[in-house]
Amino acid sequence: MTDTGPHSSNVLDPLSLFRLDGQVAIVTGASSGLGERFARVLGAMGANVVVAARRLDRLEALAAELPGSLAVQADLSIAEDRERLVSETLERFGRVDVLVNNAGIGSAVRIEDETLEQFQFAMEVNVTALWHLSKLCGESMVAAGSGSIINVASMLGHVASAPVKQMHYCASKGAVINMTRELAAQWGRKGVRVNALSPGWFKSEMTGDMDTDESSQAFVKANALLPRMGNADELDGALLLLASRAGGYMTGHSLLVDGGWTAR
Ligand code: NAP
Repeated sequence: MTDTGPHSSNVLDPLSLFRLDGQVAIVTGASSGLGERFARVLGAMGANVVVAARRLDRLEALAAELPGSLAVQADLSIAEDRERLVSETLERFGRVDVLVNNAGIGSAVRIEDETLEQFQFAMEVNVTALWHLSKLCGESMVAAGSGSIINVASMLGHVASAPVKQMHYCASKGAVINMTRELAAQWGRKGVRVNALSPGWFKSEMTGDMDTDESSQAFVKANALLPRMGNADELDGALLLLASRAGGYMTGHSLLVDGGWTAR
């Protein structure tokens, strides 16, 4: 067997595999938390980054720090905004190489108090928007015969959230993981890779004061094999692996970065 794949090279330069020079990446939910970090990391590796969310002031401040980037205000619960995000990206750059479906919502509520509207809204933002953006960006990726879609799921798409109760969140993240597999199956032969990045507990607006709250800390320490929350930079490597040629033979995977939470 001599065929080692489209990206094989005889030059030993492993770090260059992670570079994204000249590529165009969309990061949703880039106005805070993990998404903001993802945008910075992709930009640092040479990508032109399109940052999207509802809070335009934050997006513009971020874009001002990232050369060649574009800020697009979009409420991803609205189909027209999703379409405009992709059309503005294509108008400006003519292509999309990497899509990071990161925007997501969730909050603690027991099912007895959870409303149908809350459940449906979480599914719209966490699942339907991800489906729609993948479909819209996928058109250009399939035409180009290459692309990487990274769906930010959660370890809570793999396991129950106990003792925190959040059915809408767990349902949506479980869906994201199997949508990842299905899309990977549909587009593998078209050159598009689709993977999920599934974090454990990380500090962000979503997790609020968990990193200082004593009972939350005790809960994390008791359940994570690495007894602490993750630091945002501890997702950099996983993100880049999935985004770049370094992960060129990975698709349909959910990469857990959870301090060993799900290994117990
Ligand atoms: P975060 O700081 O609350 O970020 C959520 C992002 O999503 C924000 O930028 C928010 O921007 C955006 N967003 C929410 N609703 C939106 C909408 N309707 N339209 C457009 N954008 C919307 O939380 P995070 O922790 O960084 O979360 C990022 C992703 O990581 C989520 O998918 C989350 O489920 C996942 N995750 C987080 C953890 C964790 O421990 N932090 C663990 C596992 C998975 P705007 O408000 O400006 O619209």
